[in-house]
Amino acid sequence: MKIYKNAKILTMGTAGIIDNGVVVVDGNKIVKVCEVSDFNESNYDGEVVDLKSMILMPGLINGHHHSAMWKSYGRVGDFKHDAATQAFMCARLSLVALKKGVLATRDLAHKGDGHMQLKECRDKGVILAPRIRGAMEIIALPNGTAPNFSAEISSVDELRVEILRQASLRTDFIKIVANNERMTHIDYEDLTCPWFSQELMTAAVNISHEVGLKVAVHANGRTAVNWCIDAGVDVIEHGRCIDDDMARNMVKKGITYVPTLSGQKANATPGWGRDDIQPRYAASWKLLISSMKSTVKNGVNIVAGTDCLGSVCEEIVLLNEVGGLSPLDAIGCATIKAAKLMEMDDQIGSVEEGKLADFIVVEGDPLKDLSILEDNVKFISLDGKWYDTDWFVHMIPECSYWAEGF
Ligand SMILES: [Zn+2]
Repeated sequence: MKIYKNAKILTMGTAGIIDNGVVVVDGNKIVKVCEVSDFNESNYDGEVVDLKSMILMPGLINGHHHSAMWKSYGRVGDFKHDAATQAFMCARLSLVALKKGVLATRDLAHKGDGHMQLKECRDKGVILAPRIRGAMEIIALPNGTAPNFSAEISSVDELRVEILRQASLRTDFIKIVANNERMTHIDYEDLTCPWFSQELMTAAVNISHEVGLKVAVHANGRTAVNWCIDAGVDVIEHGRCIDDDMARNMVKKGITYVPTLSGQKANATPGWGRDDIQPRYAASWKLLISSMKSTVKNGVNIVAGTDCLGSVCEEIVLLNEVGGLSPLDAIGCATIKAAKLMEMDDQIGSVEEGKLADFIVVEGDPLKDLSILEDNVKFISLDGKWYDTDWFVHMIPECSYWAEGF
C-alpha cells in the first residue's frame, strides 16, 4: 500500500474538496480518501508519502486528442507518414502527455490505426501511455477536410461497410467530418460549407447506433451542425456557429460539445506552417466564442479537448475565460465529464474509493490560477505507479518537428 498524506484533494467526486486529506492506494486502486483528521494510520500498512500541502487531483483527460500528430508543425491534412513513423510519434507524444499530467485521451483518429495499436500496446503493458478511447479512422467524403487521413466513402452502402468494418475491429466510437475546411477560396458567411449530406449523416448515426457505437462529428457552420443535431449525433467537435436555438436542441437530444478552444486559437496564430488556413481560423475564432457562450448559457454538456494544437491546461483556462465556467467546473470538463464521455467514469475522472489510482500532484493551487496546470504537475500516479514528471524530460529528446512546449 501507499499512503499519500497532507494534500489538498480536488476529488471531483461527491466529497468535493478535502482541505487536508489522505489517499490510500492498494495495487492500482484507491481504497481510502478522507481528511487527515479522520484517518487512522494504524489500520494501514504501507509507505507514507508526505505531499506537503500540494494539490492532489484526478489525472487530466484530453477529450479531443490526436496521438500521432499533436502539436506538430505543418498542415495536418497534408500529413502522409507511414505506419511505423506514426507509431513512433504516438510513443513520443504519450510521454509528453504524461509529463503534462494527461493520463487519458480520447483520440479522434487519423489515417491508419497507430493510435489504436498504441491503445492495445498500452493496455498490454508494452509501453507507457495514457489510457485511450479512440475512433479507428476518420470517415469522410472525397476531397474534404482531411484527404490524407480519412477512410473515404461516397454512398450510404460504402458508409455502412466502413462503419461495420470499424465496429468489427473494435473501434470505441465513430468519427465523421461533416463540413469542409479546405474551401478557403470561397467566402461563406459561416466560413465553411457542409460536405456530408443530411441523408448520409442520418444514415451514419442510424448504422452506428444499431451496432452500439456513438458518433462524434467534426462539424462547423450552421447548416452542417444543424444536420448533425437533427441526425442525433452524440458529440459535436469544434462546432462553430452554434446559436441559442441549436444549443437548446443539443440539450434536448443529449449531445455533448467539445469546443477545442485551445487548438482553434493556436490555428488562428501564425507560426505553425499553416499559413493558408490561419486567416480563416483567425476570423472563425469569433464564431467559436459565440458558440461557447450559447452552449454554456443553455446548459449543454461540455468536455475539454485540444485537437492537434493547444494543451489541456490552455483548454481549461479558455473554458474559464471565454466560456465563463468557474475554475472548478472548467477542471471538471477535463476530468470527470471527460471520463463520462469516454464511458470510463466508473474507473477514472475523480479521486474516489474503488477507482483506479490515476491522479496527479500539482504545486500551487489551480483553483487560484488555472495556468499552473501547464508546468506544475510534479508527480503522477498512473495505474497505482508513481512517477516524478522530471523523469520524462530525460526520456524525451529535443526535436524541431514538435512544439510540445516543455
Ligand atoms: Zn481533431
